[in-house]
Amino acid sequence: MRYYIWTEGCQMNMADSERMGSGLEQLGLDLAPTAKDADVIVLNTCVVRQSAEDKAVGMLTSLKPWRQANPDRTLAVMGCMVGPQADALKKLYPYVDSFMQPQQFDSLINIVGDKLGIDPEGCVGELVPGHPNVTTHVPIIHGCDKFCTFCIIPYRRGRETSRPLEELVHECQMLVLRGVKEVTLLGQNVDSYGHDLPGTPDLGDLMEAIHDQVPELARIRFLTSHPNDMSQHIIDTIARLPRVMENVNLPFQAGNDEVLDRMKRGYSNAEYRALVGRVRETIPAVAMVTDLIVGFPGETDEQFEDSLSMIKDIRFDKVHVAAYSTRPNTFAQRKMGDDVPLEEKKRRLKAIEQAQEAVLTEINNTYFGSVQEVLVDRRKAGRWQGRTRTDKLVFFDPPDESGRDMMGEMVNIRITKTTPWSLQGKLVGVPVNL
Ligand code: SF4
Repeated sequence: MRYYIWTEGCQMNMADSERMGSGLEQLGLDLAPTAKDADVIVLNTCVVRQSAEDKAVGMLTSLKPWRQANPDRTLAVMGCMVGPQADALKKLYPYVDSFMQPQQFDSLINIVGDKLGIDPEGCVGELVPGHPNVTTHVPIIHGCDKFCTFCIIPYRRGRETSRPLEELVHECQMLVLRGVKEVTLLGQNVDSYGHDLPGTPDLGDLMEAIHDQVPELARIRFLTSHPNDMSQHIIDTIARLPRVMENVNLPFQAGNDEVLDRMKRGYSNAEYRALVGRVRETIPAVAMVTDLIVGFPGETDEQFEDSLSMIKDIRFDKVHVAAYSTRPNTFAQRKMGDDVPLEEKKRRLKAIEQAQEAVLTEINNTYFGSVQEVLVDRRKAGRWQGRTRTDKLVFFDPPDESGRDMMGEMVNIRITKTTPWSLQGKLVGVPVNL
């Protein structure tokens, strides 16, 4: 029997798909090269944007004849499309065998176990990815308690639930045995990790435990932070532990205080800037990353200018910018409308992208001539690629004709060319021991 998982959306969904795949493989299933070769298809869905949800609905509809043609086949839907109440979905798509909320893998494992005549209790253990990449993601906290007015996540992924610290350390130990060199600790808000656990460990405690107890792990990253929960203890821990990367993803979403209030973000422009100041003072080499929405309901030209100023003043290493689009069943959709014209949203989007390109041109230029520690994680079109500690993408040519596999090596690269989006360089010296 073979399985295929179609994944849409963020790293949380990718991590969930890897874990779902691990469970199915422990039942003896193999990965099918394409959906049409599979006996079990899982759609791991995203609903953060309407277009993503439409795509999932399209897939689900197109798979109806496939599922109905053969009773031995299994079709499951997981991810954010499946809210706490799956009854409406069951009525709409009665041919689907299972609707699973994020991280609720058991139902499909049991259905497939039944079809195979196997009791999953006996053969499915921890859901640790079986064939992880050199760099992989480890979800540490599920759900979100923040209820930003534009966001659907808390309604779909539920309240925050942290995974036990010991379980996460053990998972990282298992991952290094499978060749992993770098983990990214994942959550909608990793800075609130642990508040619901006995002893209330925080993200700093977790990073320290992994750092000390998994010495073979070369790099630890974390994603995404929330300005209200990023404590000085977390900042100090990033600065103190050499194998925690100095790369902080701290969404500001809007630069104007009235817009921030309407988004219910819980901080002001001044408070955000002060926090970035503290992070930079404590971790001088830090690369800052942010998320930003333009054209939020009621955002005036002047209010947008506050966002643009943030981009020019703070000088982020990466900006994920999106034009606002309504999500059904969010507070913003129910109470605020969508009054910024599409053309104006596009203009603001372009203004942010242009400002950011100018910032990145300057930031990346400072790398020219420097030697960077790069973890090699991919080969494409004959060239190797990897990331610096600050998460800059670096391309370099193989050092010789030997065809040596450099995947997972930590190498020193002298930067010989920079663009706003990536760096290029040459291998220098001996590889760094891992
Ligand atoms: S912090 Fe806000 S934007 Fe992020 S997942 Fe939670 S509710 Fe959504």
